[in-house]
This record gives sequence, C-alpha cells and structure tokens, in this order.
Amino acid sequence: MATADDPTGNLHVAILPFMAHGHMIPIIDIAKLFASRRGVKTTIITTRLNAPLVSKQIPTTAEIHIELIRFPAAEAGVPEESETADFFSSTAQKMFFHAAALLRRPLDAALAKIRPDCLVSDAFFPWSAESAGKFGIPRLVFHGTGYFALCTAVCIRVHKPHKNSDSESFVVPCLPGKIELTPSQLPESARKEEEGNPFTELVREMAESEGKSYGVIVNSFRELEPNYADFYRDELGRRNWAIGPVSLSNRRSEEKAGRGGRGTGESSSDCLKWLESKEPDSVIYICFGSLADFADSQLKEIAAALESWGGSFIWVVRKDPRTESESESEEEWLPVGFEDRTAEKGLIIRGWAPQILILDHEAVGGFVTHCGWNSTLEGITVGKAMVTWPVAAEQFYNEKLVTAVLGIGLPVEAEKWVRGTGDDEVIMAEGIEIAVRRLMDGDEGKEMRRKAKELREMARMAIEEGGSSHSSLSDLIDELKQRSHV
Ligand code: UDP
Repeated sequence: MATADDPTGNLHVAILPFMAHGHMIPIIDIAKLFASRRGVKTTIITTRLNAPLVSKQIPTTAEIHIELIRFPAAEAGVPEESETADFFSSTAQKMFFHAAALLRRPLDAALAKIRPDCLVSDAFFPWSAESAGKFGIPRLVFHGTGYFALCTAVCIRVHKPHKNSDSESFVVPCLPGKIELTPSQLPESARKEEEGNPFTELVREMAESEGKSYGVIVNSFRELEPNYADFYRDELGRRNWAIGPVSLSNRRSEEKAGRGGRGTGESSSDCLKWLESKEPDSVIYICFGSLADFADSQLKEIAAALESWGGSFIWVVRKDPRTESESESEEEWLPVGFEDRTAEKGLIIRGWAPQILILDHEAVGGFVTHCGWNSTLEGITVGKAMVTWPVAAEQFYNEKLVTAVLGIGLPVEAEKWVRGTGDDEVIMAEGIEIAVRRLMDGDEGKEMRRKAKELREMARMAIEEGGSSHSSLSDLIDELKQRSHV
C-alpha cells in the first residue's frame, strides 16, 4: 500500500478469475500486465484445483502470488473436482454457477487476510462488489468481451428490439452504425427473459453490480473500436480502461505455448515445425474455443469441406487424443481415411492447441473462429482474416464487429444461437467450403488480410510505451495508488 512517506509506493491488486478458460486466460494476462509495472504486487485468488492451471501460466520472474480459497463443493452439492475450468467446459454449467456464488465467504476471508488495495473480479461474480465495499477498496469488473459487444448487450437489454420481431432481423437501437441481428442470434438470457431463466437473473445482478463498482477493465484497444469505446463511456456512462490486447503480455514463445496451462512444449514445437514447411498465408486454422462442442455430424461436414477445398489446414477438435490402439475408423466424427488422404495438407489437433503460437505464424492466412472474444481479438492482434462461425454467448455480436464494422471476416452464415438447446443446426460442407475458398483464395480475402494486418500494427502500438492501452493502464494504476494513499 502507498503511504504518506512514499506517495509513489506499492499497489496490491487482488484478482478473482472465473473458472472457465475463456475468462481465466485473459485475466491471468491482466495479472501479468499489472505485475509488469513498478511497485505493483498482484495476487490471484483461486481454488486449490485451479491453482496449478494458474501457476503454469505465470513466469517465475513475475511478482504474482496465489492465494487459495476453498471451493464450497459440499454446500453446493457438486463433486469436488467440479471447481476446475475443465469441468466447466464439459458439464452442467448451471450447477457450476450456483457453486461459484458460494465463493463469497471464502473471498471475504481472503481479502481480510491479504488486505489488497483493489479487487479485479470477473463480471460473473456480481456479489464481489459488496465484498470489496466491505473492505473499503474499489472493485474493477472484468467482462471478457470488447466494447462492441458490451454496448450491443446494453442496447438490447434496455430497448428489447427482438420483442417486436419474431424472426425478422432488426437494427440494434441506439448503437452507432446500422447493426442488424435476428432474435435467434441473441443469447438465451436476452431471448428468454420472462421465463425465469437463471442466467437472466445473473445478467440483471451483473448489471446492477457494475453500477456499484469503480469501473470496468476492457480487453480491447481504443483504435480497434473507437466509436463503441466512446459510446460505452459517454452514452452508457461506464468508467473504463482499455488495456488490451492482453494476449500480447505473452512475449516469449514458452509463454505463448503454455497459455491456457494445458499444452505441452513438444506438441507446440511439432506444430511449428509443420507450419515452417508451408507458404505464407496458405494455412487455415480452425478452432472453436474451449467450450463449443459440435455434433459428430457437423464435424464430418467440416472434414468434407476441407477435403474438397484442398488447401492446408490445422483443425482443433475437442476430442481426447487417440490412443495407440485406436484407429481412425473408431472415430465416428471423421470420414474413414480422411487423415491418410489429407496427410500432406492437414494437421488435426485433438484437445488443446497452442493457439496464439499457431495464429502468430506467417503461414497461417485465415482463421475459422466461433468468435469468442479472446479468439477474435487474438486473430486481430496477429493480423488474420476470419471465417466467422458464432455459436453461443455474445459471439454473434463479435461476428458483426468482424464482418460489418472491421471488414476482416466472412460469415459461414450461422443463423442460430445453439449451445445448450440440443437442436444444433448443421452447416453443410458446401457453405463452409465457399467461405473458406473466398477467404483463402480470392481477392476479397487478400483485401481482408491487408486490413487485418493494419489492425495488427495498431494493436502492437497500443501496448507499447506511449500507446493507448499502455497509457490507460498507467492512468489506472496511478489513480488506484493515489486512492490507496488517501
Ligand atoms: N484456446 C487455446 N487452445 C485451444 C482452445 C482455446 O489456447 O485449443 C484459448 C484461446 O486462445 C482463447 C481461449 O482459449 O484465449 C478461448 O476463449 P474464447 O473467448 O475465444 O472462447 P471460449 O472458450 O470462451 O468460448
């Protein structure tokens, strides 16, 4: 803590990550960004089973501590192992949210013990604003999405344009630009508002808690979405600091390979070796984040599209790696003989890929993405054009940013929010192939890559000293230091 004798003194930032990869990965990057500044000590508060995942992603040189709290599995009536991000990826998420709400008392105990100067906590812990208030420290919210999606979500929540339009598209009211969506592309929490959906309740609590918080930390950079950054601050009245792209806090290859805490150095170097043999901009990378779980029928369509396109690809599939005794014919999701036929051209990664390492490679010229915000921004940060294939959450909003606002992506024409509904829409091979071909082989794709590369330069400048995100983090730290000094 800063003292009267040492006004520039130290700042202790406590960080509470939500245990899902898409939330945990960027907030650990944020911890690294804080810890990289002089006089800032950072503590990540997490549970026992998540601690190894966190510590694997922290360089030994960084001044980041881990404070353990107990996951209330018994009280929540969930299995012990359910506290991990991997469990969240695979099982009943409603149960998990219930257990996460019970972290309140353990968090209070941790804050009483470590006495930080501020708390950065995930938006999924709305009650943490009161915990911070109890200790007289500011709480900063981390949503995990960019300005465009944050603004779109508020405009839809407030104006409910989908209520007057059953299936027709509507223009998002008040939002800068003419952004069109359909009701079926909205998150379940917005669509099923009246039906007592627990996520709707959570979204309401999150909005309320934002009003009680000190401000919002945004993983974006101003130059990427200036109109929406202004709208968020000026029209929606949210104090905020854009400090991203936070993935650029991973500078060394080992850090990039270890991001997510699940990859192995060996698989990363195999991947890089493979990419080295390919021409610049010739490979398409296909990955749908840590949660999206496509039906086997959909995976077969992707395989058929790739084979028929005939170009080079890296395709990440959320399946367990094959054991030595298993053959391809035992894998229902892959056409028999696919890997033999595409051996020269393609690489399938079963499980977890070193995404930012792959994306950063010059051989990768396009990214088929589900438009999770981390993946979207990671693609932008390294100048990749995209085929957009949103599935759930706020991914349809991110798609609009990529296609309609930035002009660096082509949609695969997914029309419906699907996760959790059990009626997954299958996108046929032909449509996938057309989008991939347009992106990888045509002039249209070339132009998108050119624009994406311009954004890459802006992203890099933003986090360097004097850049917008670097300055924004400096301003925030100065403000917090001053505050803790008073
Ligand atoms: N990721 C990765 N390897 C994988 C799958 C995902 O490194 O095989 C990382 C990816 O780089 C991103 C995060 O996991 O940082 C996924 O977050 P995103 O917001 O894109 O999607 P979500 O998983 O939340 O749907």
